[in-house]
Amino acid sequence: MKTAVVGGGWAGIAAAVTLADAGHDIAVFEMAPQPGGRARSVAGDPPYDNGQHILIGAYRDSLALMRRLGVDPEAALKRLPLALPYPGEPGLHLPPGPPLVAFTCGVLAHRGWPLSARLGLLAAAGGWLARGFRCDAQLSVAELCAGLPDAVKRDLVEPLCVAALNTPAPRASAQVFLRVLKDALFSGAGSADLLLPRRPLSELLATPAAAWLGERLRLGRRVQQLEAGWRVDGEAFDGIVLACSSVEATRLAASIAPDWSATAQALRFEPIITVYLHSPGTVLPAPMLALRDGPEAPAQFVFDLGQLGGAPGRFAFVVSGAAPWVASGGCDEAVLAQATRELRWATPPVIDRMLTEKRATFACTPGLARPPARVAPGLWAAGDYIAGPYPATLEGAVRAGQAAAQGVLADAAG
Ligand SMILES: Cc1cc2nc3c(=O)[nH]c(=O)nc-3n(C[C@H](O)[C@H](O)[C@H](O)COP(=O)(O)OP(=O)(O)OC[C@H]3O[C@@H](n4cnc5c(N)ncnc54)[C@H](O)[C@@H]3O)c2cc1C
Repeated sequence: MKTAVVGGGWAGIAAAVTLADAGHDIAVFEMAPQPGGRARSVAGDPPYDNGQHILIGAYRDSLALMRRLGVDPEAALKRLPLALPYPGEPGLHLPPGPPLVAFTCGVLAHRGWPLSARLGLLAAAGGWLARGFRCDAQLSVAELCAGLPDAVKRDLVEPLCVAALNTPAPRASAQVFLRVLKDALFSGAGSADLLLPRRPLSELLATPAAAWLGERLRLGRRVQQLEAGWRVDGEAFDGIVLACSSVEATRLAASIAPDWSATAQALRFEPIITVYLHSPGTVLPAPMLALRDGPEAPAQFVFDLGQLGGAPGRFAFVVSGAAPWVASGGCDEAVLAQATRELRWATPPVIDRMLTEKRATFACTPGLARPPARVAPGLWAAGDYIAGPYPATLEGAVRAGQAAAQGVLADAAG
């Protein structure tokens, strides 16, 4: 069996490995000069990430895929118990141990919140647990959490929501948010741990995948046309995994599966801006700090890359749900002002660079119809936008890649 994979991001890599392991002859078409898609490094010395990425302990399939390609996640990622410290405030810290106990102890020990706020959060979490972390599909995160104390919304719900769903709480899907909470906080020891890259982003998966794939990876090849039967730009295959962006998948599938294509085309996107600052000699109190965003404060998180095996004195500021800042032409100066106000610097910080991904993720809104994995017999789609329980994440992309590959294998078998 000869199968084409269109797109060499994490979804395409996952699909390619699954198919190759099942004995398929594969060709991965990637239009960029390197694989990795959105989760790649960009030029710099040392390289920058195309946006700071965080993995969590619950990313079971991503971690297994890294291992399959010879990457040791324990070496490549720094594992930290979930903590959301703010500058000068310890914030929420989950101690090690069984998830329910850790969450309860962590919340009760949060001295920054009044006891009523801590009990209010535990009561709400108990209710979500009792309802199996399910809710009305039309509910927003802001509606789901309307009864929570303001401090909990400000310090926990809003930053977690925008970090995980890249969509502000008033427009974010409560159902997807609850699923993320369930898998992160309540599904086994270590699942909520933060796993912060200690290597340039491409080295987590893309570069090892390129070495593993060898000549099966065709770089600089933007697929122009699919023909039923199947042909990729005229070359015959037995099956295809469409692991490119939803925009490109919409175009390529338009004549073959117009309804599928229309669903993919209806997706809307949210940008993420990453601003890199430089300040020799500065070390932050933790590798990752949460920040309070607002009209004059774009960033929600800052990462001290020197503490993560990267360049000492380099800091990544993450601006998720960044549409207003993209509309106003960027936010590097505003991030610099926020950083100068809120953090202590050994030397005055300067702007290194600003990276803007306008289509960083799909907007994860309530009741969103996402396209299914199956496009047509023998043609399956993969990517973080495919229907599934997760928002646009590495783990969602990997699982979608594996599911699409399984679909091709099932079609071939039967
Ligand atoms: C700034 C930023 C920060 C993020 N932070 C996190 C985070 O902290 N945690 C997390 O889990 N996720 C995060 N994400 C999301 C994560 O990066 C994505 O969910 C994931 O990389 C998507 O992988 P994918 O394979 O589905 O798509 P992509 O990575 O977009 O891959 C699609 C590939 O297809 C190629 N392609 C497109 N059209 C064609 C064509 N016609 N022919 C051939 N090739 C084609 C593209 O070049 C690309 O390489 C972040 C994303 C961004 C942008």
